[in-house]
Amino acid sequence: MKVLITGGCGFIGSHLVDYHMNKGHSVRVVDDLSTGRIENVAHFKDNPKFRFDEADIVTWPDLESAVSWADRIYHMAAVVGVYRVIADPIQVLNTNILSCERLLRIADQSGHKPRILIASSSEVYGQGLTAAFSETDDVLIEPAAHSRWNYAISKVSNEAFGLSYAQNKGLPITSVRFFNTVGSRQSGRYGMVLPRFIEQAVSAKPITVYGDGQQSRSFCDVRDTVEALDRLANQAASVGEIVNVGNDTEISINSLAELVKEIAHSDSSITHIPYEEAYGEVFVDIQRRKPNLEKFYRLTGYQHRWALKETIQDLVDRKRANKTK
Ligand code: UDP
Repeated sequence: MKVLITGGCGFIGSHLVDYHMNKGHSVRVVDDLSTGRIENVAHFKDNPKFRFDEADIVTWPDLESAVSWADRIYHMAAVVGVYRVIADPIQVLNTNILSCERLLRIADQSGHKPRILIASSSEVYGQGLTAAFSETDDVLIEPAAHSRWNYAISKVSNEAFGLSYAQNKGLPITSVRFFNTVGSRQSGRYGMVLPRFIEQAVSAKPITVYGDGQQSRSFCDVRDTVEALDRLANQAASVGEIVNVGNDTEISINSLAELVKEIAHSDSSITHIPYEEAYGEVFVDIQRRKPNLEKFYRLTGYQHRWALKETIQDLVDRKRANKTK
């Protein structure tokens, strides 16, 4: 199989590269390296089945030929991370909307129908009104003109393009709403909580909980994520659908801080920081974010292999190993 991964040097994208290369597939990556890192795929650089192009897919001249070559496309390229979303809301809209629009337009014009998975996000549920967010729930964009929602708006627009090209042009597209994916190579630079807590715990710095820490998330190991994505792509019934992808074990951010501290045997203190100080403006955090996974299980039959404790242990071990190199 020939697999094109946009944003393939990023966190989830590079795990998809590993997954497909390990299956013996041919993999082509395009990434502008704005947040992705070439080190994430460097172990394949001399492999004839791997090809990397540094480019922005909004303008990349080879996108037509790459799309025509591919049997499957994962569209992972996007501006991500709360810090980046707040810092440059216009770039979020431009990059995230235009890249998906161009990719799908070219896929349609190519006349061949590669299987396409589009990365969307649980951010589209906003504060949500249900205990576990389901694909049949309304998406929520809060009325306050807040730069944070530009990310959700860009992802809703990607989903809308995906649904429309699937329904009107017959392209085999599935959009996936990721819920707090975690694992190796995830950077804490752009806000993601778990790599930040691990770094803080291992280096005995205060663990920084934002707000009162009672907000909760459901974290999914990226190794589970990529296997589930492959199953979704192989499942014809997921074409033209939007599917939650995650793990529904919920934990508060206070408990997450405690758990990281315990697993790392860390002396770090746990400190609470007001949102304004953390994000530099009045910030609306999501209080609860948990997926309803009925559709996910029905379409993939997937059973998760990694519990959060194991993921944290793995990340602590990796962090310590890097530090002693
Ligand atoms: N968070 C935190 N300390 C940090 C970074 C994030 O307490 O150093 C909180 C953040 O405010 C949010 C949760 O952890 O409530 C998850 O944040 P992340 O940016 O990882 O994901 P998202 O908010 O997009 O679910």
